[in-house]
Amino acid sequence: MPFDEPSLVPRPTPRVSDDRPPAERLIDIRTRIDKAATLARRKRGDLTLIAVSKTHPATAIEPLLAAGQRDFGENRVQEAEAKWPALRDAYPGTRLHLIGQLQSNKARDAVRLADAIHVVDRPSLVTALARAMEQEDRQPDCFIQVNIGDELQKGGCAIAELPALLTEARAADLPVAGLMCLPPAGLEAAPYFALLAKLARDHGVAGLSMGMSDDYETAVTLGATHVRVGSALFGHRA
Ligand SMILES: *Cc1c(COP(=O)(O)O)cnc(C)c1O
Repeated sequence: MPFDEPSLVPRPTPRVSDDRPPAERLIDIRTRIDKAATLARRKRGDLTLIAVSKTHPATAIEPLLAAGQRDFGENRVQEAEAKWPALRDAYPGTRLHLIGQLQSNKARDAVRLADAIHVVDRPSLVTALARAMEQEDRQPDCFIQVNIGDELQKGGCAIAELPALLTEARAADLPVAGLMCLPPAGLEAAPYFALLAKLARDHGVAGLSMGMSDDYETAVTLGATHVRVGSALFGHRA
């Protein structure tokens, strides 16, 4: 079979000069993901593009739903609760991913609302989510967030704490779907993606939620199963 592949992964289109509507950008981003997947000999079906719609109103989101996009990411439970129920009813099959830091007292709301929670990063949250899943009889996929750059201000469990947290999450019957990370801003992301991929292999975790607007193609070549793309789709947030 002839193989038509780029020798290098192209950089995402510069965002500042991009005034195309989100539905057009979506086509472009999907194409770039397909190319990166081909380069890495990966199947497109193993990749989920999460459109990060935080801060953007329903009017901006709807054209993407109409274009067939079904996975969306939100940072705040309250904002998602306000925006999504109506959109969801209008577009069946929509899946909501919670990607912002989560307080334990919001666990029940999160479980009721989200199809996947990417920010499980401490034992108290594991306990709260397990209890909420029992109460709600609903089991969103859980990603364990790892503080991959060992940054003081960032969420995510320390790398050294990952084995114990995974054990706790599995013991609590959380559906552990993968690991998630946010690499340090301003640094080359690839080494951090590679490290998260290694941790996932070492611990028998299948999913990898990594890669954002500036580096989603790199993430795909390094094994991401879920990329979280916001501003490259919607433009800059206010
Ligand atoms: C906002 C956000 C994104 C999307 O970031 P962009 O750079 O706009 O693509 C991805 N992941 C998390 C956790 C975020 O908070």
